Amino acid sequence: MTLTEIIDSFKTKLDPSKIVNSLEKAASFNDESENDSEGNDSREDLKINPYNNSGNDFAKSSNAIRISKNGEDPLIKLIDVWKIYQMGEVEFAALKGINLEIYEGEFLVVLGPSGSGKSTLMNLLGCLDIPSKGKVCLNSKDISELDESELALIRGQMIGFIFQSFNLIPTLSTEENVLLPLEFQEEDRHISRQKAAYLLDIVGLTDKKKNLPSQLSGGQRQRVAIARSLAVNPPIILADEPTGNLDTKTGDYILGFLDGLHEREGKTIIIVTHDLDIVKYATRVVYIRDGEIEKIEKRTKNEPEGLK
Ligand code: ADP
Ligand code: MG
Repeated sequence: MTLTEIIDSFKTKLDPSKIVNSLEKAASFNDESENDSEGNDSREDLKINPYNNSGNDFAKSSNAIRISKNGEDPLIKLIDVWKIYQMGEVEFAALKGINLEIYEGEFLVVLGPSGSGKSTLMNLLGCLDIPSKGKVCLNSKDISELDESELALIRGQMIGFIFQSFNLIPTLSTEENVLLPLEFQEEDRHISRQKAAYLLDIVGLTDKKKNLPSQLSGGQRQRVAIARSLAVNPPIILADEPTGNLDTKTGDYILGFLDGLHEREGKTIIIVTHDLDIVKYATRVVYIRDGEIEKIEKRTKNEPEGLK
């Protein structure tokens, strides 16, 4: 399979016209610091969803049919994956033979204590890093066979990243941070701006579009990061401790939002965290400790622990 085919097949896993379309319903953000009314002036202009008519080719590929027939194949598959860090003379195995299959439409939570290898695993799942040993496959394609530019394309188009420390560019405004991933796409600047406006409206930050990250609260920064992660409409959202730097209430909003993306948009959500509370959103939980999977549990979403 060529890279273009891989990307097409990832893209066509979801109906693009659906994406983001119903996000307004999912969004229940209350601004934690001020009232929300001022951001709504431009709502009328935003009725048009730029993701509906942007002329992108999300659904064009006939691969869509073929891939959906192969629905049982994992989106991401890790086969005996090791990550060994070299520190001078000392080697440290952060991941020790991980076998894991992740399927389209899952809400997967990787739960483990600090230092258990979660971020290392997330970097491998997101093609930000390559394993020391073993294989990472995307749609059955070994990513080690792809070159850096191909990996960059996958990262840019298929995966939306959300980080604990938000990873916003400090010198760019809210709007520019959201526009950033779109800059790498061959797209009309006007449509990009419409998309950014649309996403900022969804996360309730229209009135903060000119603010720098330093002029935002933690919760607002994470909302910018979420808007940015959705900019290219990726089928997979990967989040590393997305609530780690947020108070409980703001964290709940963020998770409610991710939950909406899963429920309404069918996005595949993968969260690595040490926060047991996040488990309630999961369809499957992977328990990790000292670089090894301890156990994997399927669960029914939103059911309290212990009532299964
Ligand atoms: P978690 O995200 O679960 O807290 P990490 O994946 O960040 O864990 O780290 C797992 C282990 O690998 C830790 O013991 C950490 O110190 C070590 N580690 C992570 N990154 C590096 C690195 N670049 N060099 C050496 N050791 C690392
Ligand atoms: Mg970590």
